[in-house]
Amino acid sequence: MSFSFDVTHRLEGAPGRAGVIHTPHGDIETPAFVVVGTKATVKAVLPESVSHLGAQAVLANAYHLYLQPGSDLIDEAGGLGRFMNWPGPTFTDSGGFQVMSLGAGFKKVLAMDTAGLQNDDVIAEGKTRMAHVDEDGVTFKSHLDGNRHRLTPEISMRIQHELGADIMFAFDELTTLMNTRAYQESSVERTHRWAERCLAAHAQLTAERADKPYQALFGVIQGAQYEDLRRAAARGLASLEVDGQAFDGYGLGGALEKENLGTIIGWMVDELPEDKPRHLLGISEPDDFFAAIEMGADTFDSVNPSRVARNAAIYTADGRYNVNTARHRRSFIPLEEGCDCYTCTHYTRAYLHHLFKAKEMLASTLATIHNERFTVRLVDNIRAALKAGQFHAYKDEFLGRFYSA
Ligand SMILES: [Zn+2]
Repeated sequence: MSFSFDVTHRLEGAPGRAGVIHTPHGDIETPAFVVVGTKATVKAVLPESVSHLGAQAVLANAYHLYLQPGSDLIDEAGGLGRFMNWPGPTFTDSGGFQVMSLGAGFKKVLAMDTAGLQNDDVIAEGKTRMAHVDEDGVTFKSHLDGNRHRLTPEISMRIQHELGADIMFAFDELTTLMNTRAYQESSVERTHRWAERCLAAHAQLTAERADKPYQALFGVIQGAQYEDLRRAAARGLASLEVDGQAFDGYGLGGALEKENLGTIIGWMVDELPEDKPRHLLGISEPDDFFAAIEMGADTFDSVNPSRVARNAAIYTADGRYNVNTARHRRSFIPLEEGCDCYTCTHYTRAYLHHLFKAKEMLASTLATIHNERFTVRLVDNIRAALKAGQFHAYKDEFLGRFYSA
């Protein structure tokens, strides 16, 4: 088995750490930001550029690739990395998030504002429910053509084995902060039963496909904002073993209240083994990175840096701004002064402003390169500060500047 994790440095007085995840396609130094390539492409950017901007790994989406072009086709192509010409480590998520968020049309999947909401059937206005959860799995309609599909723990594991990523996630039930406490409880229990089935299917598929590189499987911890549920879910998955197969790491999943992010991560980390990596799904704001890394999260992913880049929103150490606005029309300086990315070392804000106004495709490419570089570099810098014993000083300095703007 060529998957392992070494902790190399620890934060004093908190669970945070730095380390190295070893995968068959290379090492990932942690903490690390994993760039998202939902449909086996980081939108608008060549893999060479993704590599040049410092990304160590790419995360693709099992739901999208299962529907199009099909996981069997990607298997035939030699797996996700070979198919998309990304030689480094890859991740796939289980598809559960997309099935239940896109499919069910939740109003706001990771809602941060829960005031007054206690409803287990939150559907966005004008949408009909497109996914139904039962004990065995989820039936849903494709967002592409409305065709009916079925996803179960076993099917998700087969899809992810065919996609061939180095790190996969167990199929879990996604809840939102708007679900009731009773529903969260039953969902955590169901996610645990699904985790057992994922491990069994994973053990079988690993044996069947013994000629392929080992694919690591992470269990996903749910439990929303409830301490007892989060702890029970983490303990349950940490001790779970089926046919000699345990989880290789853990996904810190589901709805997380922003203001309690560090606290909630702390509950889970407290119950998890030290020697296995922890991936926090779907965050990219600077304050969230610091809070999560301090409490022991190792890797992160989010579509946010590239999604907002395509809308001309630019991250800098002095906060976020929109290069589309009139004041940048004659601004012959880089997107961010001092940035070492390809975009900032070759182009000006005025040029990006022009590309966005003219609706040129290159606008998305150049803005994405900068935002992904900003995000990867931020987490790299946090890692370096942690290793040097400077985590808290760097946190105060960075956040003070970023949020004062
Ligand atoms: Zn830049």
